Formats: sequence, C-alpha cells, structure tokens
Amino acid sequence: MPFIDPATKPYPFCPGCSHSLVLDAIAKALEAVAADPRRTVLVSDIGCVGLADKHFAVHTFHGLHGRSFTYASGIKLARPDLLVLVLVGDGGCGIGGHHLINAARRNIGIKVLCCNNHNFGMTGGQHSVTTHCGAKTPTTPLGAVERPFDLAALVTAAGGTFVARAKAVEKGFEALIAQAFRHDGFAFVDLWEICTAHYMPANAYKKSALEARLAAGGLETGVLRCTAFPEYAQSLRIQPTAEAAVAAPQDLSIQWSHRLEAPTYGLVIAGSAGMKILSAAGRVARAAIRSGLWVSAQDDFPVTVQSGHALATLQFGREPLDAVGSQPPDAVLILSAEGLREVQEVLPQLAPTAWILAVEGLALPPSPAPVTRLALAGIDRLSWAMAAVAQWLQRRPIFPLEALRAELALLSDERVRAAQLRALECGAGTPVAEGATAT
Ligand code: SF4
Repeated sequence: MPFIDPATKPYPFCPGCSHSLVLDAIAKALEAVAADPRRTVLVSDIGCVGLADKHFAVHTFHGLHGRSFTYASGIKLARPDLLVLVLVGDGGCGIGGHHLINAARRNIGIKVLCCNNHNFGMTGGQHSVTTHCGAKTPTTPLGAVERPFDLAALVTAAGGTFVARAKAVEKGFEALIAQAFRHDGFAFVDLWEICTAHYMPANAYKKSALEARLAAGGLETGVLRCTAFPEYAQSLRIQPTAEAAVAAPQDLSIQWSHRLEAPTYGLVIAGSAGMKILSAAGRVARAAIRSGLWVSAQDDFPVTVQSGHALATLQFGREPLDAVGSQPPDAVLILSAEGLREVQEVLPQLAPTAWILAVEGLALPPSPAPVTRLALAGIDRLSWAMAAVAQWLQRRPIFPLEALRAELALLSDERVRAAQLRALECGAGTPVAEGATAT
C-alpha cells in the first residue's frame, strides 16, 4: 500500500528542502511496520511541513501552531488502537513546548517527528528555539545570541521513553522512524534538516556544516533513549480496583413535579464559610432538577478556607437557562453578618414581591421586600442553611419538600444526614409569617 498518493506529487517544497526526504522516509516506515492506513492519523503542525497532509493516504488533521501535540494526545487517548503521528517543526516545538514536554512526561503513545531546520522557514526564516548561536536570520541579523535547545535532550529530561536523532539530509533514516512507530509509548525523533531557502544561504549551512554542528555539540545520532514505561492511554484503561472505582453518576431523573408558575425564580443563600451554604445549595439544585426544573448555579467565596463569606446564587427556570443571577433575586436567605455584607447592595433593589429571610440581630438596609426573621433555635449552626431553605420552601413551594428530603437521604455520613434531615423538618415545621418591610 503506497502511503504517499503518487497523484499528489511533486511535493511543494523548495528545491533541496529536507522535508521531501522526511515525507518519503515516513511513508517507507509506515510500510515497514505494515501500518493500516485506516488506523493511522497524521497530525501536522503549522509550517512548510504542514503541507504534507494532502500527500498521505491516511487520516490527517491540521490545527494551530504548536498545538499538534494536544490534538494528537486527544486522538490517542480516545483511540489508543490508532497509530498517531505528529509532524512538527522546531518552530512548533518552541511554541508548543509545554505540550511537548507533558506528552513526553505522561508517555502518551504518539510519535513525534520534528523537522528541525533551525528556523521558521514558512514565514521567511526567522529564528526559532533551535537556531544556533551566532546564526543570522531576519530576526537575528547580527547573529543569534540565544543558545539553542537540544530538543532530544529536552524530551529525554521530560521523561520521553523513545528519543532518537537523525541527519535528515540523506536517505536511510526510515528504519529509525519505524523503530519509533513500533515503540509502545511516546516517541520523539529529532530530524536535523536544511532549509535551503533561508537558513542555508544566510549561514552557509550545508550538510558539512550540519555535521560540524552535531559534532561540536557532542550530539549523537541514532536511538538515544529507549526505555519501558506504561503507556498513558492504556494505563487509564486499566480496571480500577474496588477502592479506586469511580462513584456512579448521581441519578438526576425527574421524580416529582414542580410548581413554578413564573418563567424563572432566583434564590440567594448568603452566609459564612463553614456553614455548609454551598452544599445546601447543591442539594436544593438537585431536588429542583429532579422536580423538572432547570437550574443554574453560582458559588462565590474567597480563596481562603474556613473564613470569609459563602454565597450561593440559584436560578430556577421552567425552560433551559443561559445565565445566573442576572435579575434581582426573588428570595434572599441571610445567615451571617459576612453574608449580609455580600448582599446588602442587592436588598434595596428587590421587588416588593421578593422575600428576605434573615437571622435575628442583623441590621438590614431598607428594602421594598418583606423580612422574616429565621427561627433557628435549637438548630446547630452547621445546619442553619438547610433549616432556612426549608422555611423558604414551605412558603414558596416551587418544588416539593419531599424532593429535598430525598436528596438528604442520600448523604453517606450518617451523622450529617441525621442533622440535615432534622434541620429540614424543624425548618419545614416552623410556622412562618412573612414579616414587615425592613427599614
Ligand atoms: S522555506 Fe525552507 S523549510 Fe520551507 S519549503 Fe523552503 S526550504 Fe523547506
């Protein structure tokens, strides 16, 4: 099976460009490993070598500069059975360096073939991360002062399990590429090339100069590293042990009927860190969803732990929602002074039909909405949020209390479950009379 479609030849590269040799070598290597073209994917990066796609009779993908490693990684993770190649230049290795070293570190079984001609050929020969010290390019007209990356050493240091280097200026390196294809894990082949349009004329960089650079740097060719380590995509598929088994997704099927008549309803629960504000909001959201409502949610808290405010904003809708908290809410539950600080500017904007439920002792700003003081006597502060929610839901039953009770029954910690259910029943059993407008 010819992996290069003869009808697409000749290649579009400049006369003498090493890319032609590389494409021929890849095709021969694919034949040598008896690759199945229907199970082979070539991901090409930006650059002259990115023009290779149309010549190969395999699946191809062309994306953003330096991101070829990420596309290839995604393909390999989704389909570990595929042979996934990356054809990238030294420019792409610089731009996508982070992706390269992490693909190597993880040992994702992609095969990276780097056409390393020490400059950005496609855009006019600008310097790259492998441009040699002293080399002249349009962006280093007086000679580069930066030191070049040794890409093979970089990938080795990152944990690459197969690393090789070849002089891609003469035929015969396809066997090295085939070895990379056969390797079970991440493979990187640093293919030293010549850009005959730019780097060669600007720096008298012929084959002899390339060999001199290799020798001066003590850079060997051939297989530099080949070691065994579990391939990442396969490792992810190893059967988890019973202890490590991922919990089954929570059931969000609709079990109850909601009673929301308006298109939407907004609820804010404002308190302090450690009051289980956000976990209570999560259970409210799931209960609403299981009652047929759509819910959007937003949590707000400082980066600190166990200090500062905790604010949950929920929006319930009869139809799918695309925003959260865009309107003044219909109900605000205020459980602490820190929570009040976060909502005090909202309270004057509430509609007269809205409702504020606040703990005793908080001095609220004027608001058109009526205020009810929460009855929380005998309830642990950790359960105030659930008791407040129950008092709200008792008077604004947009979904049944039973749905929330069922959510709490799913709590795995027996002590927490008992406390939350008790708070729910206390809150729901508390006669609630909506109070006077705050002044
Ligand atoms: S510009 Fe350089 S890298 Fe690009 S095709 Fe021409 S010789 Fe090759």
